Amino acid sequence: MTGVPLPGASPPEQTAVDVVVIGAGLAGLAAATELEAAGCRVQVVEALGRVGGRTASHHRYGQALDAGGGYLGVRHVRVRELAGRFGLALTPTAAPGANLFDLGAGPVRSDAHRPAFNALAVGDALDRLDELAAGVPPADPGTAPDATELDRLTVAAWARREFPHPDARLLIDLLVRQMLAADPAEVGMLHLLFYLASGGGVHYLTAFAGGAQQDRFAGGAHQLAERMAAALARPVRLGSPVTDLHAEQPAPGGTRPATGSIRVVGPQLSVRCARVVVAVPPGPTARIRLRLPGVRRPPGPARTRGATVKLHVIYDRPFWADHGLSGWVTAGAGPLRYVVDDSAGRDGLGVLVGFVTGPDARAYGRLPGAARRTAVLDRLVTWFGPAARRPLALLERDWQVEPTVEGCYAAVPEPGWWTGVGPPWQVPGR
Ligand SMILES: Cc1cc2nc3c(=O)[nH]c(=O)nc-3n(C[C@H](O)[C@H](O)[C@H](O)COP(=O)(O)OP(=O)(O)OC[C@H]3O[C@@H](n4cnc5c(N)ncnc54)[C@H](O)[C@@H]3O)c2cc1C
Repeated sequence: MTGVPLPGASPPEQTAVDVVVIGAGLAGLAAATELEAAGCRVQVVEALGRVGGRTASHHRYGQALDAGGGYLGVRHVRVRELAGRFGLALTPTAAPGANLFDLGAGPVRSDAHRPAFNALAVGDALDRLDELAAGVPPADPGTAPDATELDRLTVAAWARREFPHPDARLLIDLLVRQMLAADPAEVGMLHLLFYLASGGGVHYLTAFAGGAQQDRFAGGAHQLAERMAAALARPVRLGSPVTDLHAEQPAPGGTRPATGSIRVVGPQLSVRCARVVVAVPPGPTARIRLRLPGVRRPPGPARTRGATVKLHVIYDRPFWADHGLSGWVTAGAGPLRYVVDDSAGRDGLGVLVGFVTGPDARAYGRLPGAARRTAVLDRLVTWFGPAARRPLALLERDWQVEPTVEGCYAAVPEPGWWTGVGPPWQVPGR
């Protein structure tokens, strides 16, 4: 990105509002909606040519399929409230039938969503995680007891130290790859605890009925952002990446600018405002150049992990239901580690959603297209039989290559980040 106008670009528009919101994902649009309701003049600016950020849909066979975020549970209180306000219906995720676990010795059927591990070892591991997470304040994880030590340790190292039973360690490995889309050897323990504390604990976050994956939007999650954007007084400025934020300078010989005036600048953009809401992930935030008195950029890298390729494999019908299967799979090896059935019902198309995460996603992203397809279909044939070899379509969304995201499902900072580096911008004394 650069602050210099692109050759041939239209000259930056000069406007003034009370608040500029950077980023038209759900967070930015929700902030803009509330600010407008409070009487502010708000301009949302968005780098991409669409709203929604990490919510987006494929449109195929008359259906919208969530290529990004899609599932929500009872603790998604604000999203559910917005869904209701903007007239969107939810539909349950769980499909009837047996789930499959393929942890090395071939697929095993189960009615549960957790493998048949040693109950004592696994119960102990989950309780320990929730117990430790309860001591981590989501707004300031660095103040948790033993924060420095927990931040230094990777989750893999912590699990090795704490749990002699291999089932406990394998469960934690599966959970981290599923929840954070990262390898436990690259995630700091404090970050995992922060995530659990923010999201409602490990039991809730990994559950379907009653948990974080209970529902999805009927007709696609992208609709929420589109409806929120359409209801704003000022249209979202699309295709307008912000590159610089600086305190307004008086023109030579001119009067001083109003107190608190900030200029939000990009190749197609120049907006003056009193306040800015930055609703952008940490990686892209760290690339915005900043000249605001009292705000400093911490030293050190802002490298974040978390990598996901989300797949939709579409069949003419959900044939796995004929064998009493739910379409839900957890696997101990990549590329496909998790599969969920997102079919609209049992009478229409069959839609299996697959997740390739962490190091698997990085390796998968480097494969040629034909090799990726074979790798995915081979796994599905192992689990669902030869009919899985012939889908109507296989759709991929590789979130690793989105320059305005950097880390998905969410940014996962490296060990030591919370206590050593911290968020991209800091106001000393706060
Ligand atoms: C594959 C996948 C599956 C997921 N599944 C789930 C799920 O099931 N349940 C769940 O709760 N969450 C899920 N998530 C996470 C969820 O989608 C995100 O947490 C949420 O959408 C983030 O919203 P946001 O507004 O904070 O950020 P984003 O949606 O990332 O919005 C930020 C916006 O800022 C824009 N931007 C970035 N830089 C600039 C700049 N310099 N100038 C202007 N604009 C900029 C971006 O283009 C983007 O539109 C998933 C995410 C992915 C990728």
